[in-house]
Amino acid sequence: MKILSVNTGSSSLKFQLYEMPEEKVLISGVFERIGIKESFYTIKINGEKIKKEVDLENHKQAFKILVDELLNNNIVDSLKEIKGIGNRVVQGGSYFDSSVVVDEEVISKIDELSALAPLHNPAAIVGIRAEQEVFPNALLTVVFDTAFHQTMEEETYLYALPYDWCSKYGIRKYGAHGTSHKYVSLRANEILGKNDTKLITCHIGNGASISAVKNGKCINTSMGLTPNAGLIMGSRCGDIDATIVPYIMDKAGLSTKEIDNIMNKQSGLLGISGVSSDSRDIEQGIEDGNERCVLAHKMFVRRIIDYIAKYYVELGGCDAIIFTAGIGENSKDTRKDIMNGLSVLGVKVDDENNSLRGKEVRVSAEDSKIPCYVIPTDEEVMIARDTYDFIK
Ligand code: ADP
Repeated sequence: MKILSVNTGSSSLKFQLYEMPEEKVLISGVFERIGIKESFYTIKINGEKIKKEVDLENHKQAFKILVDELLNNNIVDSLKEIKGIGNRVVQGGSYFDSSVVVDEEVISKIDELSALAPLHNPAAIVGIRAEQEVFPNALLTVVFDTAFHQTMEEETYLYALPYDWCSKYGIRKYGAHGTSHKYVSLRANEILGKNDTKLITCHIGNGASISAVKNGKCINTSMGLTPNAGLIMGSRCGDIDATIVPYIMDKAGLSTKEIDNIMNKQSGLLGISGVSSDSRDIEQGIEDGNERCVLAHKMFVRRIIDYIAKYYVELGGCDAIIFTAGIGENSKDTRKDIMNGLSVLGVKVDDENNSLRGKEVRVSAEDSKIPCYVIPTDEEVMIARDTYDFIK
């Protein structure tokens, strides 16, 4: 059965077509600059990558081109072969603790939650509307980035603010990257050969979050009401003293929009280093002796260690620490500094394995008290799996 996994951005559309249940990727690609000049798309079939420049006015047009490519490359003989389409949605609020089949009520809830994910939720709806027109026979589903974190207890997800702000305004911790945390924790349980595990999963990319996962269920996560909480990220500040916000708005005469922009786009690694939000540039800066890059890296690593230590205590121990996403999978220096910072817990690095890149591998030493693994994440396959489960 063929299932399409879709991630729609405001001007982009990423897709992977799977043969399920084998989880074989038949074609993958991305449409970029939709609705903007100089739009193009790239597709990958049988390891071969093709880039084409084309006018893309909207997402519906992108889906239509995708259909042409599927037919022209004999990946499908008829559109009816695509039985389901799974869509990534960033914010599902308290409404959704699992993936669901799309209907008008689901769409209106995703829309209602747009204030919490203004760049992502509206784009997902645009994608779903286009799919309804282009793929009238497919079952459409949505997979929420927040769903995995809905198992957190009230004492964990509430902020110590007036109690009724949660029911009145939805102010609480929702977390994000849930699909990734779920994927790597499932895979970690396979590696460990048991399901009753205590895991700390570190999704460290441009956006970054850490989760504490007990027996397959999330008990805590570092992101909050929005993705700007917890860890220091590429350009987001993560946890700060909340009172800094009104203080600096007053002092520097900033509007709410300006302070929000600074905390999300000009802070984090970029804000401290003054160089870049990309960890590769920070690593280069460190090599070149740039003190501010050294400082940014130290702060970034320190915060990750703090969260791992906190979740170690909360879980009452830890069976494995997992690294995933761009930095977690690729930056040996970051992983090494994190593991060395956890030496008090008996964590020891395996330098040889840790120097491998983007591979599933144990990066801690044989005698490390907590095994640490790199598990490359695969959010797309999780979306395909959930969609397949509705149809099979
Ligand atoms: P997001 O999905 O949040 O945009 P990614 O998971 O793609 O982020 O991660 C992007 C980050 O991963 C960037 O900081 C980038 O520098 C880092 N990264 C990617 N490849 C490497 C690499 N080979 N070495 C070090 N860092 C890398």
